[in-house]
Amino acid sequence: MDNNRYSSNRPRRKVSRRTYRNRRLAALAIIAFLILLLIVLIANACADDKDKKPKTDTKTAVTLTTTTTVTDSAIQTTTTTTVVATVPKNESDFKLDRQTISIMVDETDMPRVLEYPDGTVEADERWTSSDKTIATVDSYGHITGVSPGVCYVILKSAADVDQEVWIKVTVRGESADDDDDTTTPQSSRTEAPAPPVYDTEGLTYIDGILLVNKEYSVPATFEPKLEQICYDQFNKLSTDAAKENLSIYISSGYRSYKDQETIYNNYIEEEKKKGNSEAEAKKIVDTYSARPGYSEHQSGLCIDVNSVDDSFGYTPEAAWLAEHAHEYGFIIRYPLGKEAITGYQYEPWHIRYVGSKVAEKIYKKGLCLEEYLNVG
Ligand SMILES: [Zn+2]
Repeated sequence: MDNNRYSSNRPRRKVSRRTYRNRRLAALAIIAFLILLLIVLIANACADDKDKKPKTDTKTAVTLTTTTTVTDSAIQTTTTTTVVATVPKNESDFKLDRQTISIMVDETDMPRVLEYPDGTVEADERWTSSDKTIATVDSYGHITGVSPGVCYVILKSAADVDQEVWIKVTVRGESADDDDDTTTPQSSRTEAPAPPVYDTEGLTYIDGILLVNKEYSVPATFEPKLEQICYDQFNKLSTDAAKENLSIYISSGYRSYKDQETIYNNYIEEEKKKGNSEAEAKKIVDTYSARPGYSEHQSGLCIDVNSVDDSFGYTPEAAWLAEHAHEYGFIIRYPLGKEAITGYQYEPWHIRYVGSKVAEKIYKKGLCLEEYLNVG
């Protein structure tokens, strides 16, 4: 009968005020539900996106402020550039000898990889720089300073993309406000003299250098105490390190025959407590401690700094020491990779005074003392 059911002239059914309010509430509820649904869908889409790039959320953004001073003839302008770098938590299984490197412009240095993550090898190394205008890095990890500033060099493994480690690189250059430092810092530093030669029977000197190692001992009666020049030069080293906010202090210096005897015997007892036989204990202790008479600490020419354990190798103090000890006449006596020659594990904390002439040669050639003296 009435086909035009929705025609405007169809009389509207009367609705009570309450029903009307209920309908409006229902409509609002439906709209709210739809909005909620939309939000959930968008959130899910974003989460999917994150799963595809898991590496981004392991990183924390850090803002680095680098101040570069530029001198333009007579006019001196100071510009401050803000570098935003992304720094991850270093949770990889790469083990490096250091994670900070400090170099001059045009200078090259490289961190050494001590351990690779499981299933990866040296050939998988992939090196990149976060800012090539500050420092570049080649495929072997040689880092070269380009301009003053701070950046990161990232080591990744091609075999396991989740493994990466970041090395902080500080590049120093001639800054305009260092008026007192017109020449290179090395040349302005006074030369560290050679240590004195003792006329004591039973000491082994080669080219004027006292050699104390697992083969060459000092007599039990030899008690030189810590050599004055060694102590003075260490204080210069420590003072200069402090200028760079680094704390390098003596934790062990001179030891007498009796001191060394006590130390050695204590280690033997400790190893025996672990269930080792006397012979086994000796074999183990010999890799990290000297027998009485054979400790270089008895020469009065060496110092152990800071914490005497492997963790020291990862500190900025260790990096600075490895880079600068020779300038003060010291060498890292038991370097990494020379264990078979020195008979000692890598000891980044043990420095030996030889004077700057010899120390510089040893440092530049990357030798250990035995190699330099052509023994053992
Ligand atoms: Zn030592």
